[in-house]
Amino acid sequence: MAPRIAILPDTVADQIAAGEVVERPASVVKELVENSLDAGASRVRVAIEQGGKVLVEVSDDGTGMGREDALLALDRHATSKIRRLDDLVELRSFGFRGEALPAIASVSRFTLSTAEGGGEGTEVTVTGGRVDRVHTVARQRGTTVTVRALFFNVPARRKFLRSVASETRAAHETVATLALAHPEVGFEFHADGQCRLQVPAGQSPDERLASLWGADLAAEFVPVHYTGGGVGISGWAQRPDAAQPTGRRVQLFVNGRPFRDPFLVRAAEAGYRSAIRPGDRPSLLLRIDVRPADMDVNVHPAKLEVRFRDRIGLERAAEAAVRAALGSLAAAVPMGAEGAAGWGIPALAGPVTSRQPAGHALPQDLFDAISPSGGAEEPAAAPVPATPPAVVQLFRTYLAYEAPDGLVIVDQHSAHERVLYEEVILRLRSGAVPSQRTLVPETLPLSREEHDAWEASRDELARLGFELEPFGGRSVVLHAAPQPHPRFDAVRCLRELLADLAGGRFGGLASRLERFAMTYACRAAVKAGDALAPAEMQELLARLFRTELPPHDVHGRATIVRLPLAELERRFGRR
Ligand code: ADP
Ligand code: MG
Repeated sequence: MAPRIAILPDTVADQIAAGEVVERPASVVKELVENSLDAGASRVRVAIEQGGKVLVEVSDDGTGMGREDALLALDRHATSKIRRLDDLVELRSFGFRGEALPAIASVSRFTLSTAEGGGEGTEVTVTGGRVDRVHTVARQRGTTVTVRALFFNVPARRKFLRSVASETRAAHETVATLALAHPEVGFEFHADGQCRLQVPAGQSPDERLASLWGADLAAEFVPVHYTGGGVGISGWAQRPDAAQPTGRRVQLFVNGRPFRDPFLVRAAEAGYRSAIRPGDRPSLLLRIDVRPADMDVNVHPAKLEVRFRDRIGLERAAEAAVRAALGSLAAAVPMGAEGAAGWGIPALAGPVTSRQPAGHALPQDLFDAISPSGGAEEPAAAPVPATPPAVVQLFRTYLAYEAPDGLVIVDQHSAHERVLYEEVILRLRSGAVPSQRTLVPETLPLSREEHDAWEASRDELARLGFELEPFGGRSVVLHAAPQPHPRFDAVRCLRELLADLAGGRFGGLASRLERFAMTYACRAAVKAGDALAPAEMQELLARLFRTELPPHDVHGRATIVRLPLAELERRFGRR
């Protein structure tokens, strides 16, 4: 009897590999562009026809290949990028499996044209995995791979391709993502003869971001700069006040490689805690740098997922990186055409190298934080003014003061809300808020809903400093109350608090304790229209800059707006 087990011919093995690596035209685009990047290209041009079903062509000006390598490249497991399994551990290139070219060639009409120097090159034509023709051609240094009639010999897969529009979109997205990862490389993407994307070589990361995601969105970003625990995280986080419930953009890179990781995105979003409206989803672009030995990219055939050695540490770092970025004054809403922190106002966007300790920016310290030579890294060099800045109250609602790089305007209610929120959260978690005995205990008749809300939140209210006792029927007696500021109306605040709690307001992802603290902070804070004495203003600002997120209130709105000096100078024609 003939043996039942047979070694598969290479072509069949390639076609099986193609099932994993080549799912659709966009995966062909991804593999070919990654090869171009690995080959050190400074320009990559991608053209597709009919969503890539008819044609995918990728040309680059990279190192190219000699004749021998060009043929070898089409063999399964032929790669110039690793030699031993150990090399995987130190991997810096995109490719390493040596599967893409043979896999793609096994399911298409394929041409590889390549040259190492100017003048003469090699062209290899392959049909369904069989080499048809090898000949010499005249061409420039670099490589062009042309893939026609994808899946012509695998009708079952061809059937699964989506509409031309949807395949075009996927291919476009693939190029845009890789272009975002490599601002130094120029990219073009053409679909059915129409240029859809064109970015020049040699752009800076922020120029590339603005080219691809639009200057409007880029202007809403705060720069992220973080190192700690063996990782570096840089990139951009959208200001919470600009975030929307839908249409956000998220992109993660690890060592320059785009990847997906919903859990890591969620960890980064946790950095927005207490500063964003429930339901709003911020746009994020994070570049993570880890030692290659601390991650494994060989867990997904298309290398879209990555495994990390210290997953929990990385998630913590992502959260801390975003939180630190949002806490800097650079995260305050800028006024005028200057756009995002970092767009032409480097002085207001000093890098935050690690999580800043609370208390980093009293108004005086603020000057260090935003002055050109200042920042956490070199506090000694920062010019510290002898006197605290003069603060003026505008419209009995805003506090304004001059900083070296512009005018800072603070909303007094939002600021106080942020201050009380963070203080109350701390105290609810540890001890209790100091309260003051009311001179004459007050009796408050409550509605059924208010009474229920009081019973459900008795413990938290007590820890806030509200000492209440039942007093027959639905009435309660107020013996003591917190004193967040001199004009505080304890009875009114309590009533509002109970109404909010009864009405189930302040929903979202926040925990019960956080919701409670937000409600209290909102009701207990000084209001717009309250006149503040100079000392009160100074103290409020000092306390605001001791919080974790001075520029954002607890409802996802701005607490600070800044008018950069550069913007003033521009408007007055001084530069
Ligand atoms: P891998 O990228 O995993 O090594 P591929 O099948 O994608 O495997 O490519 C095989 C080899 O062909 C690569 O290792 C590289 O040496 C060579 N190669 C592929 N594309 C290019 C290119 N655009 N420029 C130069 N060399 C290339
Ligand atoms: Mg490859």
